Amino acid sequence: MDRKTVLICLVAFLLIAGGVSLAQPEQEGRVVTIGEIKALPGQTVSGFLEVEGGTYPDAQIPISIINGSQPGPVLALNAGVHAYEYPPIEALIRVRAQLDPQKLKGTVLLVHIANLQAFQKRIIYYNPYDWLNLNRVFPGDPEGSISQRIAHTITQEIITRCDYLIDLHCGDGNEALIPYSYWSKGGNPEVDAASKKLVEAFGIYPIIESQRPQDAKATVYVDNTAIQMGKPAFTTESGQLGILDEESVQRLLRGIDNVLKYLHMIEGEVKDFGRPAYIKKYEVIRSNHDGIFYPLIKRGYYVHKGQPIGYVTDYFGNKLETIFAPFTGQILYIIATPPANKGEPVVEVGEY
Ligand SMILES: [Zn+2]
Repeated sequence: MDRKTVLICLVAFLLIAGGVSLAQPEQEGRVVTIGEIKALPGQTVSGFLEVEGGTYPDAQIPISIINGSQPGPVLALNAGVHAYEYPPIEALIRVRAQLDPQKLKGTVLLVHIANLQAFQKRIIYYNPYDWLNLNRVFPGDPEGSISQRIAHTITQEIITRCDYLIDLHCGDGNEALIPYSYWSKGGNPEVDAASKKLVEAFGIYPIIESQRPQDAKATVYVDNTAIQMGKPAFTTESGQLGILDEESVQRLLRGIDNVLKYLHMIEGEVKDFGRPAYIKKYEVIRSNHDGIFYPLIKRGYYVHKGQPIGYVTDYFGNKLETIFAPFTGQILYIIATPPANKGEPVVEVGEY
């Protein structure tokens, strides 16, 4: 080796030993930086997005950037908006461990637990400081309460950066639920058609056709925030009742894997999950009283119009109301723990 070769070898060794990838000049534009977190092409990097709390405690959002070694689309996977919904949170931990950025085209952004404060306090539906449902306050407000600030941060830092988005949910800590997905339609036929293909590639059926609000300033939901920016997106549900079960995790991982193949972000044949069943009409029925809910049927069962689904008593056992099926259909989820609160859901029924 002459001196020049030795020098080149030494520089290459130092770069590799230092964990620095030998990025091509065209790769430099592909460095992904979100907040303090920076991922070079071929790297997976994790950290926290900071949310200033104003009059509330500050919040942190744990995220990962899996930046592929090759260019491609940006897919955002969002979990923990409802922080007692555990299989989606576990699924993203597995994605981070298993998805090799060297074999990835494009970037996967993982929001591991959007509502970390609720996760730490083990709270269903709500954030424990402002008692708002994070998935009802999008696109958020930087001057608002803590849920609105978290929503704003996710909108600005994640949703504006992605090309596609999946919002991962399951039955909350009180909800017995069959797996299903929402095809969320936002009023733009092209985006809606692309979202439909994406949710079908995910393979968790049945699929509920859902009309989302067509207002970019009041998108309400995570998926609709992306959709109103022209980005295909959907919401999926796998798991229930605060249980972390492997079957629900695997169902989500299978869907994520297939969407990555469908978007040509990883190698492999796209699986055909068959023709999906679509639910055209659905209704969430809410309790009219505070009290105790007694279900009379289980998730997944079919009910006739007018059939009693459950009833609410006061805290002493006196019956306050009976809840009947509004139409013939399937129980998509039903509350399976005692508390009933006025205005909160007790059951969702879907008609095919
Ligand atoms: Zn949820």
